[in-house]
Amino acid sequence: MQSYKGRFEPTRFADLTVTVDFHCHSACRFCIVQEGMNLYRGVPFERFQQAVDDNRHKPRYRRITFTGGEITLEKKLFEYVAYARERGGFEHIRLQTNGRLLADRAYAERLVEAGVDEFFVSLHGPNPEVQDFISQREGSFDEAWAGLENLHALGVTVLTNTVLITHNVPHLKALVEKVRAVRPTRMEFWNYLPMEDFEDERGLIAPMAELAPALREALAHAEASGIPCAVKYVPRCLLGEHGHCVDNTQPDVVIVEEFYDVYPKFACLWEAKCEHAETCLGLHHPYVHKHGWERELLTPTPRTTPWREPEDGLALGTDDPTRPGDGFEGAPPPPTHHPAWLRLVEGVAEEHGARLATILLDRRRCTYRFEAEGARVDLLLTKRDDGRPALLRTRSFNVAYRHLELGEGGAGKATLAAVIEAAARTLRERDRGDLLLDERKGLVGPEATRRRRRS
Ligand code: SF4
Repeated sequence: MQSYKGRFEPTRFADLTVTVDFHCHSACRFCIVQEGMNLYRGVPFERFQQAVDDNRHKPRYRRITFTGGEITLEKKLFEYVAYARERGGFEHIRLQTNGRLLADRAYAERLVEAGVDEFFVSLHGPNPEVQDFISQREGSFDEAWAGLENLHALGVTVLTNTVLITHNVPHLKALVEKVRAVRPTRMEFWNYLPMEDFEDERGLIAPMAELAPALREALAHAEASGIPCAVKYVPRCLLGEHGHCVDNTQPDVVIVEEFYDVYPKFACLWEAKCEHAETCLGLHHPYVHKHGWERELLTPTPRTTPWREPEDGLALGTDDPTRPGDGFEGAPPPPTHHPAWLRLVEGVAEEHGARLATILLDRRRCTYRFEAEGARVDLLLTKRDDGRPALLRTRSFNVAYRHLELGEGGAGKATLAAVIEAAARTLRERDRGDLLLDERKGLVGPEATRRRRRS
């Protein structure tokens, strides 16, 4: 199960998330930051200011999201929001919250007046029986629901987030039915990712034989209700006609780097045969450990291009910030749908009788694949690093090429050599320094780790 090692690194390029602190008044059974509650401090205010100031000088992010722990417990939240609003140049300020404190209408109003215009509210069941059992806090559903109603009345953007575990899988359609009333902009369903209970002793990992039909039913109900959905960490082929809802992207996160060390890896038995292998994660390792490979359930879509062992992270569907997820309802996006990155080399291939076949984008690298006369080559951008060898450097990137494969009898060699040369030159001219690739995931170092008490 090593072939997908390290593949979990996609991000959304227009979004920045800041993990302010790790305290919470709920105790959700699946909590992804549970360990961090004790270990991490959250991001120092100065580091947050630096990220905001960076964005003012070099605008990259359209949205900033504050999260925790539970962000509404943060005493300095209004200072964070004010700084982002006044200094950052963001179009949207979002809170990721359990929504409980938003039951206080005056508090919700203050947040909106302060500049928060989007609320991503966790709702893990359609009623107190399900939600309170999961959150292990009586009254949490009623509070969150009152909060959602307040937000709806205030006219702000509301999104919901549901983590899929054994306890709420039977209630997903009922959840959609409940949430319809507050007219969310999007409902997101994130399959549970174990971060410490890899043996699933808590019994949270739902078998796909139960999860997939329940989720499809919920997605169908959402679609019929006009609610767009996004699904993370569920095999695409199990979603049937709702496969376009798969969106495994994540924003850049200002969080302690090592938080991602324990992220599960993913794999699919059929990856070499499936057309979606470059964009679908398959199953996470703890799932395979518990429920097996799901050989009979997963149905690969036959590949139209040859399979290659992945060297890089999962490719993003699109970097177009106007669309949530890949945004191509019912159809996959074209393989070059990365407008900002396409602009850097647009027209070069055609000038030389070649074509740009695809753009593969993840957080660390952008790969342009050029083809001509049965030959192909990849032009690779990585973060600029003057200490590493490169074909040339632009303002932001090291440029290199790899995987030159010639056509019959060496065909395409001269054409692709000309394309590489021209593309590199064009990149240097067009790179204004406003696009970012980064080797890091968490953007914050060990200064954000608490010292453990000696025991
Ligand atoms: S067969 Fe595997 S790679 Fe293809 S869609 Fe299903 S889970 Fe994803």
